[in-house]
Amino acid sequence: MYQCDLARMDEKIRCFSQFGATGHGGITRFSLSPAALEARAEFKKRCESLGMTVVSDDMANLYATLPGSEDLPAIAMGSHLDSVRQGGNYDGVLGVLTALEAAETVVRNHIPHRHPLKVLVWTNEEGARFEPAMMSSGVITGKFSKAAMLASKDKEGQTFGEALEASGYQGDEANRFDPQKNTALFELHIEQGPVLEAEKLKIGVVEGVCGMINYEFTFRGQADHAGTTPMSYRKDALYAAALFLIKLHEELDKLDSKLVYTTGKISCHPDIHTIIPDEVKITLDARHQDPAVIDQVIAVINHLPRTFAGCSWSYEEAWARKTVQFSPQLVDLVEASTKALGYPFKRMYSGPGHDAQYLADLVPTAMIFVPSVDGHSHCEEEYTPTADCLNGANVLLNAVLMRDQEEA
Ligand SMILES: [Zn+2]
Repeated sequence: MYQCDLARMDEKIRCFSQFGATGHGGITRFSLSPAALEARAEFKKRCESLGMTVVSDDMANLYATLPGSEDLPAIAMGSHLDSVRQGGNYDGVLGVLTALEAAETVVRNHIPHRHPLKVLVWTNEEGARFEPAMMSSGVITGKFSKAAMLASKDKEGQTFGEALEASGYQGDEANRFDPQKNTALFELHIEQGPVLEAEKLKIGVVEGVCGMINYEFTFRGQADHAGTTPMSYRKDALYAAALFLIKLHEELDKLDSKLVYTTGKISCHPDIHTIIPDEVKITLDARHQDPAVIDQVIAVINHLPRTFAGCSWSYEEAWARKTVQFSPQLVDLVEASTKALGYPFKRMYSGPGHDAQYLADLVPTAMIFVPSVDGHSHCEEEYTPTADCLNGANVLLNAVLMRDQEEA
């Protein structure tokens, strides 16, 4: 089995941690910000020094190519370099740096490979500056209209289109990821959850991305004076929502233990301490790999009492996504690579979304997870020991080289 280099892996992580450093161990590296452009320049410089050619497409996605010995479609790997506000040094960037380290190992060790190898960077995965998340992988796979995305504005009123133009990375549409010219895609990512660490595992062999629903519930009461309305006359929408939440949690907890759900957002009208609330909205985010369990969630909602504390409620779907299954052949390759390297692993599904879930529509795709210490992510405490990052790079490298040995 081929091995990547621990010192090089560590140096890469340290180097990219500078771009957008907050001074408290994390980074704020919004897409196409000066910090993100510094990270891109460093990426490009490193790729070119390895003999790779780097091009960008019209959404500024980057494609670095190392030629293979035969005229074959490429094997691609990569992730994103942007972060959330006060994010960590691993989400996204580790998928780029392990891909870079795998490519560097191939070059420095003169490892023969038939297919071209590509290292990719997707623009604006986080959607932290310009909504939505996974914007550019979404555009090139037909999930979002490009025109709508170019018009997306940041808080200062600058559009994504303006930032794209100013970045110097807006390339040719002809450079977009082409399923005819790419035969496989691997994305390594941190788990962003506590499971691998808790189970003392080193690798997550990711079979797909969980489907999810996002619902908004509205409770309607009657606004009245807090001092004059006897309790028995009231229709308090916030109290109704509270009773509803308890009942909803009790019922959802009876479903499959892998279901995760969050009632994380609430708005209360008029939100004044002397007025009985007349309208309250709460959200439900529910995720599971099996669509049948998501259907059970919907059934639970539909069987709840139609009124709480005298208030009616209704709900609407804000958005939903179907479970994405990765390529069984590539998932098996990731598992074979992990086993051959002797790392403890489990097969699992991703709760968070990733660029790979959109690309899976175009090309056989798989993901590799490495542990997140204490499960922290999207915060400055986000951490994965370099040795664990290196394990991931080794799994990636060997899975790519196993794929390289297969027909075509
Ligand atoms: Zn990410």
